[in-house]
Amino acid sequence: MNMDDVTFTEAFRDPAIARGLVRDIQRAADRPMRLMEVCGTHTMAIFRHGIRDLLPPAITLLSGPGCPVCVTDTLDINGFIALSQREEVIVATFGDLLRVPGSFTSLRREAAEGADVRVVYSAMDAVTLARQHPDRTVVFLGVGFETTTPTVAAAILTARDLGLTNFCVYSAHKVVPPALEALMQAPDTRIDGFLLPGHVSVIIGTEAYRPFFERFGLPCVVAGFEPLDILAAIGDLARQIADGRPALTNAYRRAVGDAGNPRARQVMAQVFAPCDTRWRGLGTIPASGLAIRDEFAAFDATRRFKIAVVEMPEPKGCLCGPVLTGARVPTDCALFGKRCTPTDPVGPCMVSSEGSCAAFYRFQR
Ligand code: SF4
Repeated sequence: MNMDDVTFTEAFRDPAIARGLVRDIQRAADRPMRLMEVCGTHTMAIFRHGIRDLLPPAITLLSGPGCPVCVTDTLDINGFIALSQREEVIVATFGDLLRVPGSFTSLRREAAEGADVRVVYSAMDAVTLARQHPDRTVVFLGVGFETTTPTVAAAILTARDLGLTNFCVYSAHKVVPPALEALMQAPDTRIDGFLLPGHVSVIIGTEAYRPFFERFGLPCVVAGFEPLDILAAIGDLARQIADGRPALTNAYRRAVGDAGNPRARQVMAQVFAPCDTRWRGLGTIPASGLAIRDEFAAFDATRRFKIAVVEMPEPKGCLCGPVLTGARVPTDCALFGKRCTPTDPVGPCMVSSEGSCAAFYRFQR
């Protein structure tokens, strides 16, 4: 093989190395082990590369609350929809949110009935939209973890510097470490080790998980997204469990440092402050959300608009809550693949490309 043709990605897909890593995992997996990934991109990568099929039966992979759209509470989804129903508002959103069912309707259905809902690829696109439509108010739907939030904070700072008065954000942003703690207390959930999210860790760094690790003493490994990254991280977790020596380690050193990205965190902290927030499946988790700080109140959609939504139960029969905590798997749901499919989803886990139900439907039906 001409090595000039070998791409960086191929280097992390080498079959011979993969076989060696699988053998390491098989040797280490001397007892049942339940490992959870808390990143939707990991969920998809694990399915796409057939990693579940390579693992010994002793290892069970659980998909946790790593898909931002899936963990967004119905109350927030209903709030997004209520905003779209206001004539003066243009809702700017990532595409995944369009099809997430609220209690009565969805953004897609509202758009079909005349609401002005636009798909954007970044929060900065929404700022551009606001500049193009000075007579309307553009509301960006802020959904995502620490990976996305710095870019949303930067968009708010840009809007402020431009003197824009017709741009604001509905922040449903969340942070990952408090959710790990909540998972440890979730009923019917048993986790022996965490595959920590690569993208989020680029921003927050490995040390951000130290308080969680010291409190629970559970094996934790930061993982990348190529097959060898994931296999190496699973092997590390399996060895830690087998040896009874839990550790917080980093199997994604080419992208993640101990301290993460201080500049991104500083921008995020300038605009957002921690707040308690509701997660689908996990309820309210203290200090797990990000609210827009008082000095940026003019850019906070929840303060600019009186958004009246009522609490409604989850769709009947939908198990998204227990699926997100690893207590159940999508195929436990009686609606899976019958009433609930990617083209006609009942719950958010079937909507997002990073949702567990969508991944099971696509790869494991
Ligand atoms: S299959 Fe559909 S209804 Fe069932 S848990 Fe998943 S998203 Fe909810």
